[in-house]
Amino acid sequence: MTNDQKVEILKLHKQGLGYKAIGRSLDIPVDNVKKFIKRLKSEDICICLECGSIFSPLPGKKIKRFCSKKCRLRYWQKKTRTSLKYKIQKVCPECGAVFMTYKYRQGIFCSKECFQKHESKKWREANGK
Ligand SMILES: [Zn+2]
Ligand SMILES: [Zn+2]
Repeated sequence: MTNDQKVEILKLHKQGLGYKAIGRSLDIPVDNVKKFIKRLKSEDICICLECGSIFSPLPGKKIKRFCSKKCRLRYWQKKTRTSLKYKIQKVCPECGAVFMTYKYRQGIFCSKECFQKHESKKWREANGK
């Protein structure tokens, strides 16, 4: 079995597919799939989230999602980079301050105070005061 196949097996297994279904969709004998998954469970084999390589965690080590420190760093760097994409700059219409906010956020004010000021202005205008 290649590393890629192993990763695919694990993926499908996590999706809840049975041995037979996994074997059929990847064209691997069911016995091999069964053996691999059993080994996976008994030996605590892990697959690196970053590079997809299969490794056995060192006994006593807590890091189980990455094969190495390098992979862990790369993974988190990518993550923070993508999360920054969701942040955009906006200008508060009340006080003119520039602030960072998430794209999906509806609020257009830099703070609660500015929002309240704006609301009370609107109220005063509407009531002719
Ligand atoms: Zn890795
Ligand atoms: Zn403001």
